[in-house]
Amino acid sequence: MYCHEKTYDLDELARMNLHVHTAFSHCADRAMTLPAIVSEAEKAGLDAIALIDHDNDDRDDATVLAHVQELRRQLGGLETRVRVIIGCELSCYDIGKTLEGDRLRQALDYRAYALNHYHMPFWAQPDEPGPRGYARHMLAMARSLIVSGKADCLVHPLDAGYARNRIGAAAVSQANAAITDREMGELFELAIEHEVAIELNVSGILAADKPQLRRLYDIGRETGVWFNYGNDAHRLPDVATRPALARVKRCLLGDAP
Ligand SMILES: [Zn+2]
Ligand SMILES: [Zn+2]
Repeated sequence: MYCHEKTYDLDELARMNLHVHTAFSHCADRAMTLPAIVSEAEKAGLDAIALIDHDNDDRDDATVLAHVQELRRQLGGLETRVRVIIGCELSCYDIGKTLEGDRLRQALDYRAYALNHYHMPFWAQPDEPGPRGYARHMLAMARSLIVSGKADCLVHPLDAGYARNRIGAAAVSQANAAITDREMGELFELAIEHEVAIELNVSGILAADKPQLRRLYDIGRETGVWFNYGNDAHRLPDVATRPALARVKRCLLGDAP
């Protein structure tokens, strides 16, 4: 399900940060509490944020569910004009397989899925480890998840960057480039059919494979996909989206002021 109107206006998209981790995620700063995040979002003039902590194999569903309920309890006691969406960064760790059970998934307002955390030991790897193998694997994972009906959004999609330590940086770019324009377009058409959004991941845009992200943005607009904007915030200063926006525009449009 989509959580906002479709837009390709980056200024408008950047009024939302739909990828924020709280301190519940091991990799996030301890200062990432719900009240502190909401206060940052207000200062930054954001309309909406989504809290999506990792659901990895080191925690069972009951633990994640208790955390989600605790976030809801805290949110209930908070007055804010910011729309706060409570979800998870769930794990589609193999073709047709997700880690969470139905109960956890159904308790979420927003089901964002990572498909490419290849650095994690429990994540399936392609049978054929070369660039085309990763390309095919990323596509197969994404297709399987989209048609499952479980996902609202694919986060940092079609980027083999998390396999960097396994295959090297050069092979990451080759793997990304090995996804053809047609394959990407067909995947986005499938996403539209099943109402699944594609994330524009700002930290990815600024740190990773820029040509791939530009291609994602161009082909996404051509096919009419829904984009969700998020910057994978792990620290309070990352909740604001404005500071990075000019660089994001330079990367995606090439003509930013
Ligand atoms: Zn992730
Ligand atoms: Zn994340």
